[in-house]
Amino acid sequence: MNRRQLLKYFFNLSILSASSSLMKVNTSFAKHSGKVVILGAGWGGLSAAKTIKMLNPSIDVTIIEKNKNFKSCPVSNWVIGQIKSMEDITFSFGALKNKYSINFIHEQAIQFDFDKKNVSTNNFNVQYDKLVLSPGIMLDYSNIENWNKNSYEIFPSAWKAGNETILLSRQIQNIKDGGTVALSIPLSPYRCPPGPYERASLIASYLKRNKKRAKLIVLDANEKIVSKGALFKEAWDEYYSDIIEYRPNSGVVGVDNSSKTLMTDFDDIKCDVANLIPAQSVASILRKNNLVAQGQNWASVDPFDFSSSFVKDVFIIGDSTSQSSVGKVPKSGYIANSMGKVCGLAVVSELADLEKLTPSMINTCYSLVSPEEGISVSAVYTYDSKDKKIIKITSGLSPNRSELIKDNAWDWAQNIWEDMLL
Ligand code: FAD
Repeated sequence: MNRRQLLKYFFNLSILSASSSLMKVNTSFAKHSGKVVILGAGWGGLSAAKTIKMLNPSIDVTIIEKNKNFKSCPVSNWVIGQIKSMEDITFSFGALKNKYSINFIHEQAIQFDFDKKNVSTNNFNVQYDKLVLSPGIMLDYSNIENWNKNSYEIFPSAWKAGNETILLSRQIQNIKDGGTVALSIPLSPYRCPPGPYERASLIASYLKRNKKRAKLIVLDANEKIVSKGALFKEAWDEYYSDIIEYRPNSGVVGVDNSSKTLMTDFDDIKCDVANLIPAQSVASILRKNNLVAQGQNWASVDPFDFSSSFVKDVFIIGDSTSQSSVGKVPKSGYIANSMGKVCGLAVVSELADLEKLTPSMINTCYSLVSPEEGISVSAVYTYDSKDKKIIKITSGLSPNRSELIKDNAWDWAQNIWEDMLL
């Protein structure tokens, strides 16, 4: 045998052994089906559901989701900035139902019975072998003085894509010349660290182009811009110095509905449009069902597979998870999508009695600073077996703002929507 033949022989041998071990894995997956129930058809839940079905189509997957279609938080700031419409960020669950045979129950999940392994809604009682929970966040107004049921429309948060996004978008569109918009940012950690600053940029850009002498007051409970600070500051100084007034350490502590006033410890700000993004914590259903330790704001998990720290055969992913248990990852859609893949593979492996693989995750957060330019931050994460946490192994910030990054942001959104929904 000459050298070339020998190399070819080894190459064929390695392909053969790789494909036979893959076949072995697939056969082992397929032999072991089971029932998986997923709460939440958002960024974490959809990613977990599709991963499970792609690895082992014989697993029965049911998603409990109160909404009839998917509305994307990423790109929802573009709707508020009048660049995209609500239709551009709204998608059907049709492909998941028809192509992947995922069952959907469009109702509110009310209660888990961990002993009997079931989840109840008003009309259904669904059995599970493994339960994956990705219910997102609860918006917490409990520390806002004078908050009542009428306040939601007067001070929309638009921090879950939906009716409030449309409401805020219309309010911005209809504001009078010389009007004042206020945008309040809660203390970190909250969903999407750069999100409020992207929103501020796009609102400011719209005001600059369409509303003479209008102003935007940014009331930030944090001491400085939480994410991509230098890049946002540069853009704001260059484009919006006469429009944005940035006030750090200025958390909102109260409201007055009748005069549309936001109160901080220092000031009362009367405005024409008020976007109040409140403090956030774990979705309330997780707390009600004892999946959150007392005194904690978020759910604790083992980041190796995202199993709950408290209940067997239950997994928690997405924004609801605590950084103290997972490690320092942002509450982003991309991370929720990554967690869904890690958890989906872990669930399939558990059902097939296979060893779990060490997780790795990625994140890129794009933000527009104007309709023409974007900035980004990316990171790659792995599991540190010594600390039992997800750690960052490398990261990078875009050196400046550019049109290319704006284009990449739209491409990213389209790709990841396809990854979850088609
Ligand atoms: P969600 O996506 O919110 O999904 C939770 C789902 O559970 C919801 O559909 C909800 O209806 C359902 N649900 C909850 N409770 C129940 C119940 N009891 N019964 C039935 N259904 C229930 N991330 C990025 O990576 N890139 C971005 O550019 C980006 N931009 C953003 C911009 C804005 C304005 C905002 C607000 C967020 C942005 N994010 C971004 C963050 C991203 O949206 C979240 O991190 C992500 O949605 C978290 O996914 P999740 O699965 O934890 O929660």
